[in-house]
Amino acid sequence: MAALVLNASLLLTHVLLRVPPSDPLAEARNSIVSEDFEDLEAFFASDELRGRDTPSPELDRAADYLEMRFEEFGLEPWGNAPSYRQSVEFPIHVSPAGSVVMDWQRGIEHGSWEPETSCVLWRPRQDLRLGNISLTAWAWDGTAPPAPAEDAAILLSWPSAAGEPWQEVVFALGRQGWEAVILTMSDRDLLESAQEWSARPRIASERAPRLPATLLTTSPSLSEWPPSSKGQLQLSVPAWKVENGSSDNVGALLRGRDPELAKQILVVSAHYDHVGMGWGPGDQIFNGADDNASGTSAVLELAEAFSQLEEAPRRSVLFLTFCGEEKGLLGSREFVENPTLPLSSVVANVNIEMIGRPGDNDSGRGWVTGDQFSDVAEILNAGCESTGFEFIHNGMWSDRLFFASDNFPLAQHGIPAHSVSGGSMHDDYHQPTDEADRLDYEHMQEVVQALFLGLYEMAERPEPPRWNLNDPQAKQFASRRASSGSR
Ligand SMILES: [Zn+2]
Repeated sequence: MAALVLNASLLLTHVLLRVPPSDPLAEARNSIVSEDFEDLEAFFASDELRGRDTPSPELDRAADYLEMRFEEFGLEPWGNAPSYRQSVEFPIHVSPAGSVVMDWQRGIEHGSWEPETSCVLWRPRQDLRLGNISLTAWAWDGTAPPAPAEDAAILLSWPSAAGEPWQEVVFALGRQGWEAVILTMSDRDLLESAQEWSARPRIASERAPRLPATLLTTSPSLSEWPPSSKGQLQLSVPAWKVENGSSDNVGALLRGRDPELAKQILVVSAHYDHVGMGWGPGDQIFNGADDNASGTSAVLELAEAFSQLEEAPRRSVLFLTFCGEEKGLLGSREFVENPTLPLSSVVANVNIEMIGRPGDNDSGRGWVTGDQFSDVAEILNAGCESTGFEFIHNGMWSDRLFFASDNFPLAQHGIPAHSVSGGSMHDDYHQPTDEADRLDYEHMQEVVQALFLGLYEMAERPEPPRWNLNDPQAKQFASRRASSGSR
């Protein structure tokens, strides 16, 4: 009996606590909860998604999921894209069918050696043929590599211990002028991991350093090298095949309720790609839980909360997730260079980056990059004032990172555009250890609830965000604004 009375009074308290009965803004905000972030991270940062490389089938799976959720929220496809997607195209390097061949000749004897247990880590841009080469054997011992003779390849035997800087050593060999490196390792597991890695297509970047053609093999050891040092030796390594690759930006539009202000669009964005996989011993999946499954999850939670409002805010909001950030801001550059909606209608961009790991003494706070350039941070703070949460200037990163994320291409087109982070540059940044179990989900809830209120404020107030024209750099950005009659 006593228990029943207690239950009844609890019920009553519960009902009373829900007063006021309908504050739609608070209700929508309260739909943003830490449990949702845990669920979303369990998908985006899972090993199954293989680090969401651009391009990769796993990134496309993430795109499918984003599209499905946007549709489920009742949001519209954006601009003149027929769907929720904008295709981003780029050349990719694919391994050709032919493999590395070493032809040898000794007197009248000749033959070819095509290593079976091998893979090519890096290929040249043009077919490489070295005739009559001399092969230098070198066991890495931490010292500088020998200088190459003409038409020379180096046979580098590698201690297959974890954490060795093999990549840096190959870079150094390339800088020294070696055209081909044959890397021998005894560890079969390493080779298998390298084979998986090298079979994946990669973006053919002009900016990539020039690397020597690099063949990894477990066989043979130096003493059993088939073409002996006495004979003549030719080495040919076919170049990369260049094909067309693509990934997608995925976005969805919430149309504003005010007939005039609805023509102005706030872009709320995050990149959903990460750096993919490495090869070597141990965990090689770069999960990117903080960078940037956290921002991606935030965009989804914000899209859901905004779409729950009975009345949309006055301005329109485009929820947008970019591919290819880690490959040089490819998705956001495509968005501004081949826009699917008039860029002149975009009045601000809040881009979300790494909100899962607050720095020391930074709970209850987030920070904005380039915050002094416009009034975006002020508006966010005005919106979330009641929560006690604050968007601040980060002395270490706010200035530097303004130029390093997807907000930047928009800023270059004159749109007040900033990245918001709730986090820190931790030791797991761009490491396989950036895993979902290291995130602070309560903090994510706090950041994104505050962002929701701040963005709502931005979408409601009569004036759109403005560049701070007292700042010379901001003034330059402002001057790039596309002129158009829509504002
Ligand atoms: Zn990032």
